[in-house]
Amino acid sequence: MLLPSPPMRGRARPDLARLAPLLLELRGAWRDRALDSDPLLFPHRYAAPADREVAAFVAATLAFGRVASVKASVGKVLDALGPSPAEALGNAARPPAALSRFVHRWVSAEDLAAFLRAVGSALRERGSLAALLLAHDRGGPDYVEALDGFYADLRERTAVSPRAVSRGLRFLLPAPAEGGACKRAHLFLRWTVRDGGWDLGLFPRPPFDASRLLLPLDTHVHRIAGYLGLTRRPVADLAAAREATAWLARIDGPDPVSFDWALSRLGILAECVRDREQCRCDRCPVRPACRVARRVPAPPTAPRLLESA
Ligand code: SF4
Repeated sequence: MLLPSPPMRGRARPDLARLAPLLLELRGAWRDRALDSDPLLFPHRYAAPADREVAAFVAATLAFGRVASVKASVGKVLDALGPSPAEALGNAARPPAALSRFVHRWVSAEDLAAFLRAVGSALRERGSLAALLLAHDRGGPDYVEALDGFYADLRERTAVSPRAVSRGLRFLLPAPAEGGACKRAHLFLRWTVRDGGWDLGLFPRPPFDASRLLLPLDTHVHRIAGYLGLTRRPVADLAAAREATAWLARIDGPDPVSFDWALSRLGILAECVRDREQCRCDRCPVRPACRVARRVPAPPTAPRLLESA
């Protein structure tokens, strides 16, 4: 039986007094734990910050679909770019021929080539992706407007006419201000702006500021955030990401998305799933603050053995 999706009935706000210590403990427990299958593994392969930045952007951008397929696709792109992805893109006019048959879900080789061309152009002109983002940052409580300008700039650099932009290219270079959660864009910023745990801390602080980051919201994190009362939104969109982040900022204002690594593990490691039979509420560290767990009946007690059979 499937557990309900947000919004939940009942209280309209999380029980922060109960939730905060649980989340802080969960965050501490997961802070340095292994990367397992996370695409954040890829930028850690490089020593130079410029290569880490490019690898992080490629890995975050292609982080959709099954874990194995994400790993294969990101690995294929980075392998083709050689030991220095930043140098390869900054110097080359064309993407490597090894990627001419690339496909990742609905992203084609042509989409990827346009994406890499745009990144290369930005690196040549601005020096880094951080500088490109900064050029579009007008301040504000989060980075949505800055990301919107950043991606619009990259779309122009693809040299693909706006009318000819394919679904795949649009997915690689989204428009975060249009209202979607844009999980991959905010994931890229979490990796590059934060420097705790496995996050890379590549972007200079200041001017970058972890308190302006938004929770990278996918369906798993959105569902769990709903169970904990962090959002009442029925869909994983920008408003839901802002709502959940605002509640997390009440627990850790300077670093609200520091809870993402641990929260997302609950979904990724199948601790918290939609199938009631598979949900591991009995060992879930946030169970005391979860609205749904209270409705999950205790498993039936095992039949007692007859004393003399
Ligand atoms: S107790 Fe934990 S595993 Fe169970 S539904 Fe709530 S968040 Fe998910």
